[in-house]
Amino acid sequence: MILALESSCDETAVAVFDPARGLVGEWVHSQIALHEAYGGVVPDLASREHLSHFGPLLQRALAAVPAEKISKLAATNGPGLAACLAMGLSTAKSLGLAWGVPVVGVNHLRAHAFSPFIALHAANPAAFDAEFAKLLPHLGLLVSGGNTALFSIDGARRITLLASTMDDAAGEALDKGAKLMGLGYPGGPQVEKLAATGNAATFEFPKAVAQRSSLEFSFSGLKTSLRYQLEKMAPAEIEQRKTDLCASYQAAVFNALVRKSGLALERGFVGGADRPDEPTLQEPAHPADHGPPSSVLRPLSSEYRSFGLSGGVANNKTLQAELAKVAQGQNIPFLRAQPQHTGDNAGMIAFAAWAEREAGGINEAGMGLGIAPSLPLAN
Ligand code: ADP
Ligand code: MG
Repeated sequence: MILALESSCDETAVAVFDPARGLVGEWVHSQIALHEAYGGVVPDLASREHLSHFGPLLQRALAAVPAEKISKLAATNGPGLAACLAMGLSTAKSLGLAWGVPVVGVNHLRAHAFSPFIALHAANPAAFDAEFAKLLPHLGLLVSGGNTALFSIDGARRITLLASTMDDAAGEALDKGAKLMGLGYPGGPQVEKLAATGNAATFEFPKAVAQRSSLEFSFSGLKTSLRYQLEKMAPAEIEQRKTDLCASYQAAVFNALVRKSGLALERGFVGGADRPDEPTLQEPAHPADHGPPSSVLRPLSSEYRSFGLSGGVANNKTLQAELAKVAQGQNIPFLRAQPQHTGDNAGMIAFAAWAEREAGGINEAGMGLGIAPSLPLAN
């Protein structure tokens, strides 16, 4: 079984994954209340909290799963806050030394990318490899407070980044918009709640679509237009029309996610190439079986066989429904990370350490492993 530790930001988390059964336990200590008073995460306080809480969480985990059953340790080694990442990784190394088991480093963003498949594994662990293969190539959308990314997972479980945001992340846009409207942090859930009873057609915000043909996202102009709109309104009017403001603003953020995802699905699979916007060309494998003469190079493109959603914003019911429709339009299954695996969590770290083991995404430097605070989703 794999014991995973996650401490990239403000969540201290431990999980145990059994390839034959799935996640057998997850233990979390959230620091949200601690940082709320400061309006954001204070790195020094966060790392001290990790130091205090890994011990008790591990005691609980090891009371449930005997240490002898652990054959691998996994820790998030990036991206994240340096002092926080160091806590999880050094704790994992200490256990690895004491128990004589290997320690691997997991990329937090890649763990998000694989998180929609945790439930697929849990439903039938023995059939996972075969079932997963049927869903590849996969198009994934990761939407969180710090990231907005479209990526593909190819048949060999390799990840290619297709597009990201040029400025704010989608969750950040919701959080900043909420702050402008005087709502609490994190803003995404508050905006969702108010938007539910509002009319999305009331306010005209620019669609957060950078360029029609590009897959890249841009949300900062949208946030500015919300500010201009609020400046034109008296406080009492803002209060009175808060639900409509939230509904319209949320719709503009999600419009970009829905349209770019649809565009990526329509274009078909892109992966493995150095530059994802350029189709890879190759000769047909069996010229005789194909229509075009063998001298004609054909783009190596095929259709995605599944579409996935991960990250904190994946909790939003409106976004879930809209993206499910996008997948349905392409006749492919829509998978989303379960709520407990959308934010920072160790369950996805343990799962990725196993699911990505042969795909080259796991850092196996062992005891010499360091932290990588700016680790990208894919190179
Ligand atoms: P990160 O680790 O990058 O900070 P998380 O994966 O922890 O991000 O997700 C946090 C983000 O998700 C915040 O921006 C928050 O507003 C957003 N979020 C959480 N729940 C919802 C929701 N129901 N609707 C929209 N956004 C949400
Ligand atoms: Mg996260």
